[in-house]
Amino acid sequence: MLVELTSVSPVGGFLIFIYGALIGSFLNVVIYRCPLERSIVVPGSGCGTCGTPLRWWENIPILAYFLLGGRCATCGTPYSWRYAALETLTALAAVCSYLHYEGLNLQSLYAFIFFCLLLVVFFTDYDHWIILDSVTYGGMAVGMMGGLFMPLRQDFQFFDFYLLPASWLATWGEGPWLNVVSSLYGMILGASFYWAIQILGGMVTKQEAMGSGDIKLAAMIGSFLGWSLGLCSFFLSFILGALVAGAMLLGGGRRGKDPLPLGTFMAIAAWVVFWMQGRFWDWLWQLTW
Ligand SMILES: [Zn+2]
Repeated sequence: MLVELTSVSPVGGFLIFIYGALIGSFLNVVIYRCPLERSIVVPGSGCGTCGTPLRWWENIPILAYFLLGGRCATCGTPYSWRYAALETLTALAAVCSYLHYEGLNLQSLYAFIFFCLLLVVFFTDYDHWIILDSVTYGGMAVGMMGGLFMPLRQDFQFFDFYLLPASWLATWGEGPWLNVVSSLYGMILGASFYWAIQILGGMVTKQEAMGSGDIKLAAMIGSFLGWSLGLCSFFLSFILGALVAGAMLLGGGRRGKDPLPLGTFMAIAAWVVFWMQGRFWDWLWQLTW
């Protein structure tokens, strides 16, 4: 059966969901093993407690958790529901990208890859306070070059007058390559923004306010969003962080533990702003004027 994935159909959407779940299953392995510097290829997946290798049907994304009743078939150790949830989330993100960009194409792939990168960042930072260099550096390359296939970002339409090199570049024509320029600006702005915070924060608190992983993550987000939306997402991440920190103080949860790492909020904010795109500016415009 040949299914056309380049246009939207129910069967295509279903297949994309399955592919998405399989990729989510792979991302689980990346999130679990890469921060510990273990191979993502060998050995195959097994129970974390008794080491029994998983049988083929125990590797089926999402379903395996329910088939096994949420625990190891050999030793009975409960498995975290997070793996199945992450697979479901990835599958849904794949379907959303597929529907929004009307098929499997470079644009929907771009959106989906951005999601996968942010998902890995979110969980490795949450679990270990680690943001993998392979994710951020690889992401920067995809973010920058992938911009060629995306609709023209609004960076240069709003800020022509305020950013001289931008207006100068814009006179060279309006092509998707302007997205690559906006990605470059986004990377430079993102990295220097967080670098400045690191230095200022270090002076005020006399300790390291944020790691270099956050700076590279900011550059990666800037490469996908461009500099203006990138900036939006950074502010949104601070707002989210402040809200959650406040809620945790009030609720008394996680007390005595470290606060949540900044990268988790940056990842969420970047994903929200990516989907809101220019609407974020419209919304902010209405709010402030
Ligand atoms: Zn076991």
